[in-house]
Amino acid sequence: MNILEVKNLYKSFDTIKAVDGVSFNIKQGSVFGLIGRNGAGKTTTLRMMMNIYTPDSGEILLNGKHIDNEFKKKVGYLPEERGLYKKMTVMDTLLFFADVKGKKGADIKRKANEYLERFDLADRKLTKIQDLSKGNQQKIQFIATILHDPEFLVLDEPFSGLDPINTDLLRQIIIDLRDKGKVIIFSTHLMDFAEKMCDYITMIDHGKIILDGNLSELKAQYAKKNVSLNYEGDISFLKNNSMIESIDDFGNTTGIRLKSASDIQELLKLLVNNNVTVKKFDANDISLHEIFVLLAENNEVKEEKNV
Ligand code: ATP
Repeated sequence: MNILEVKNLYKSFDTIKAVDGVSFNIKQGSVFGLIGRNGAGKTTTLRMMMNIYTPDSGEILLNGKHIDNEFKKKVGYLPEERGLYKKMTVMDTLLFFADVKGKKGADIKRKANEYLERFDLADRKLTKIQDLSKGNQQKIQFIATILHDPEFLVLDEPFSGLDPINTDLLRQIIIDLRDKGKVIIFSTHLMDFAEKMCDYITMIDHGKIILDGNLSELKAQYAKKNVSLNYEGDISFLKNNSMIESIDDFGNTTGIRLKSASDIQELLKLLVNNNVTVKKFDANDISLHEIFVLLAENNEVKEEKNV
């Protein structure tokens, strides 16, 4: 069931159409990724969901009703611009943010300690925020976002500034929260993260949706025309072949996209007949990154034609 529905959102800043008719639905207990390149309109969309910006038009529904201040109480929001009081200690910061959301007492302090332990910051409780590294400040801001046990998490680029170990840790905590039934909405321009974490994605470009749906279904749909190839020999003869849409050399692997999924066997035959040694021929392999590049390029061509 859809718990949140975003319908036909529009927002312009002077002549810039930052969000240009965006709609999507979010289900209970899922991780939803809003993905796209820099300037695509992700932050503006999240800010409208958080009632920081008023949409020019469109609506956001929670369980079928317009969102109001009740929603704000149920949300943990990690904004793009991080903001902690530099002179406050770590523990005071966490207790302060929980208090703002109406939660205090021994239980919150215990949970704060647990999260600090998990993020390897247990010995920094009395450290002032200004004396922490950027990555550690980011971790504190994340704990402050989830400490009051919100039903919804809205996270704007949550992984920026974190090293690989902390990225994995954060990812695991987000998945644990999803498994507890929380709704996670996050934005990223990093396709790898979206690919590893999301149940559903909406990809936006120039303020418009270019892809939307269940991630594994989308991947299966796009993979049908895609072949991931490792080979020895010369495949330059494929360049002018009418069944090929594109060839991308990724170093070790070459991605070949066909115009029609029914030509996969034909492609394999062609390679073998032309004395190419096929080491890997994977007809079901496409990354979200490849899908993004493909769609963003198509979108670029459309945008240019509109000008
Ligand atoms: P990034 O990944 O770089 O954060 P984004 O997808 O979050 O990008 P937005 O921040 O939503 O993108 O910006 C979308 C467009 O709207 C951009 O062209 C941006 O310059 C413009 N924009 C966003 N906020 C404002 C504002 N307050 N005033 C004017 N223009 C804005």
